[in-house]
Amino acid sequence: MSEPTSAASHGATIELENLSKRYPGHPQPAVDDVSMEIRAGETVVFVGPSGCGKSTTLKMINRLIEPTGGRIRIDGEDVTGIDPVKLRRKVGYAIQSSGLFPHLTVAQNIALVPRMTGWPKGRIRERVEEMLDLVGLDAGEFHGRYPRQLSGGQQQRVGVARALAADPPVLLMDEPFGAVDPITRDHLQDELIRLQRELHKTIVFVTHDFDEAIRLGDRIAVLRERSRIAQFDTPQAILTHPADDFVSGFVGAGAALKRLNLTRVRDVEVRDYPTVTVDTPLPQVFGSLRGSGTGEILLLDGRRRPHKWLRRGDLVRARGSLARAGTPVHDTVGRDATLRDALEAVLTDAAGRVAVTGRRGEYLGVVDMETLMNSVHELLEADRLEAMEAEHDLVEARARQTRPDQEDPGGVTTA
Ligand code: ADP
Repeated sequence: MSEPTSAASHGATIELENLSKRYPGHPQPAVDDVSMEIRAGETVVFVGPSGCGKSTTLKMINRLIEPTGGRIRIDGEDVTGIDPVKLRRKVGYAIQSSGLFPHLTVAQNIALVPRMTGWPKGRIRERVEEMLDLVGLDAGEFHGRYPRQLSGGQQQRVGVARALAADPPVLLMDEPFGAVDPITRDHLQDELIRLQRELHKTIVFVTHDFDEAIRLGDRIAVLRERSRIAQFDTPQAILTHPADDFVSGFVGAGAALKRLNLTRVRDVEVRDYPTVTVDTPLPQVFGSLRGSGTGEILLLDGRRRPHKWLRRGDLVRARGSLARAGTPVHDTVGRDATLRDALEAVLTDAAGRVAVTGRRGEYLGVVDMETLMNSVHELLEADRLEAMEAEHDLVEARARQTRPDQEDPGGVTTA
């Protein structure tokens, strides 16, 4: 009956409309009136503290948990009432510790949903091979193994292969990499990014790890208690404009470091250092040295590229020979380097400064610890201000919505 189409199935939109879940005997709902739209082909990550309702929300999408209120639409179709078996064809599901059946082989595990939905045997066999190949496992080697004969990372790969076997447009992933070691986790995250580039599924991914969310999500929904949406936006927007204290708290003390990653040297003011070139007359060089607040100047070569750092003592010891005096410049950073790269260069430089260069290697300025610290403070301050302004605009806009008469100062009325 339900053979797969030959073309791979790409993502579907998911709409959650006023979705709620109240567990019997609990006064508070676990999920309270959640509405959101997830676009076809995007990866949305639900992130939030433990117990906030991420998993319950996710499991309502494939009705492993039945909602007590609201609707779910997949590609416009209301799936709140359809046969769950039919739903599983549309929605793949991967969980922590892979969730593989221990008494079934790898191949039998992967074949589960295609078999359940009545694919012909030959096609299932082909599909199992195809899936093992997709997740980077050798079909010949892994086909007949049992889950206990696999490493944690391999089990997780088989879990993903199983979730994708019936080629569903939607893939739900509930902390799938939560139980593997950090290195394997890194690999699995990279592989998921690679897979998604190829497959364009709609992925909803649950994690409590904000860094994982940033890495994987096209958009991140930061959830607070009862799965209420604190912010739903791109990683960049959440990092730079957290909606409120709850989100900032979740983004965490790493905000300054994350900002360093998002800002380039070209975006900040660099220090203008005193410079001389190799053919500057000596009296002028001494004059520059005397005028330099740092007691140091930068010697540029004939094409104005940073050549040597020069102190007065260096020049005296070299008996006034510019050719012999000074410390060669080892490292420079370009304008496209991130502030994190610049910080790394500053930290590894013996004197804590690094020259910034243009496209042809020409001198543009210098960054040191002080300029970096000032820049980061300014950036974080600007982020906060902008967030406050955005909040203010939002409040204003809401106020206008509730006073529509004030939108119409001309008093134009329609019949
Ligand atoms: P998260 O995935 O964010 O850690 P969950 O969705 O698992 O959160 O749980 C949300 C809330 O619902 C928690 O307070 C949890 O204790 C409660 N809960 C989860 N499953 C059940 C259940 N089967 N019966 C009663 N309460 C539950």
